[in-house]
Amino acid sequence: MMGTPRFFMALAALMVWVGLTLPSAAQTPLGGVARIDPIQSWVHDQGDDGLALQLYLSQGVPYRIFTLDDPRRLVLEFNALDFAGFDLRRFDQSDRVTGLRYGQMQDGWSRMVFDLAVPLRLDRAGLAIAPVDQTALLTLHMQATTAADFAQRAGPPNRQAMAGLPPPAVTRVERDPNAPFVVAIDPGHGGIDPGAQVGDAHEADLMLALARLLRDAFRRTDNLRVIMTRDTDVFVPLEQRIQIAHEAGADVFISLHADIVTEGKASGATVYTLSQQATDAASAKLAERHDRAEILAGVDLRGTDDEVTGILMDLARGETQPRSIALAKVLVDEFDQSLDHVNGRPHRGADFSVLKAADIPSVLIEAGFMSSRKDLKNLKNPEWRQSFADAIVRAVLNWRAQDVAAAALRRQ
Ligand SMILES: [Zn+2]
Repeated sequence: MMGTPRFFMALAALMVWVGLTLPSAAQTPLGGVARIDPIQSWVHDQGDDGLALQLYLSQGVPYRIFTLDDPRRLVLEFNALDFAGFDLRRFDQSDRVTGLRYGQMQDGWSRMVFDLAVPLRLDRAGLAIAPVDQTALLTLHMQATTAADFAQRAGPPNRQAMAGLPPPAVTRVERDPNAPFVVAIDPGHGGIDPGAQVGDAHEADLMLALARLLRDAFRRTDNLRVIMTRDTDVFVPLEQRIQIAHEAGADVFISLHADIVTEGKASGATVYTLSQQATDAASAKLAERHDRAEILAGVDLRGTDDEVTGILMDLARGETQPRSIALAKVLVDEFDQSLDHVNGRPHRGADFSVLKAADIPSVLIEAGFMSSRKDLKNLKNPEWRQSFADAIVRAVLNWRAQDVAAAALRRQ
């Protein structure tokens, strides 16, 4: 199809973009310029009427996907891509793509435009970042559709919704190395929601007591700020807990629980991170939510289309998730070594709404299970709670040191 590939600079025909701001920008590889791996990247026809595309990138970068009609085109934009060494022949494998152009845009974004021979609709796209080397893989799949459906879906994402955003180049807030490290502590439940109850013991009360000890323990560290999502016996919705952490510019989010298990027996501390499966469900839920601004810090996504939201969430989570998992491991090791208090499967993934901040490493600690007599005795004991709080502080500070070192490596 690419008999005469045209190279051109796409001059800002459509000045649309999405900026992605992460509070801990300096700790992530997001941003900057990615290179395409020309060997592993391709587009080809798939099945009777589908189209598949895969782009291997040297790192994750913010991106967006949309279609334009008359003539029909698929547009991919990145902030930013370096096309040097990009081999067009790799893309000469589709009858449904009749041309490809690419180039830099004035606003710092890079654009790829695929001319489509037939009407296709985007049915899935995602960007995965490899935890090991931070390389990124964008996959995209399109399905046949009618001309009318294509026309209806086509168009750049809502420009109006983007109008209030600063240009991407300046939305990247580099973290001040001297700024305090901000820890968000989230005591589970509260108010009308007492959480687990055994006798006269309520999970909400025990976790608030633990959270206060934890706050005081963290405060003994220099240049560290602690915020709590609640400091009284009140009900705080889950989204609001994440919002509180975002507004404080939290670097880490720690939710404290001590639930009951009704099936089988469980005891010992367990640390949860958001599972991959839950991540997808979260994206689906988010798309329905009226006000999404607080979930993805710094990017007001109200009025933008759901695909863009999902993509940005995936991108941010792809970076945050390995950091959350690293934190969970350090916590489990610390509970094991200093308290000999861990569950048989101490690190688990689960679909906890409160872990769904896309850009803040988040863990949910089950300090113990109230259904275990031994755990409950510990949880009710102020001295045990103090030693548990101290263990969390040691683990978080160890993780922070690791995380800073890892971020420095990623930037090299
Ligand atoms: Zn709970």
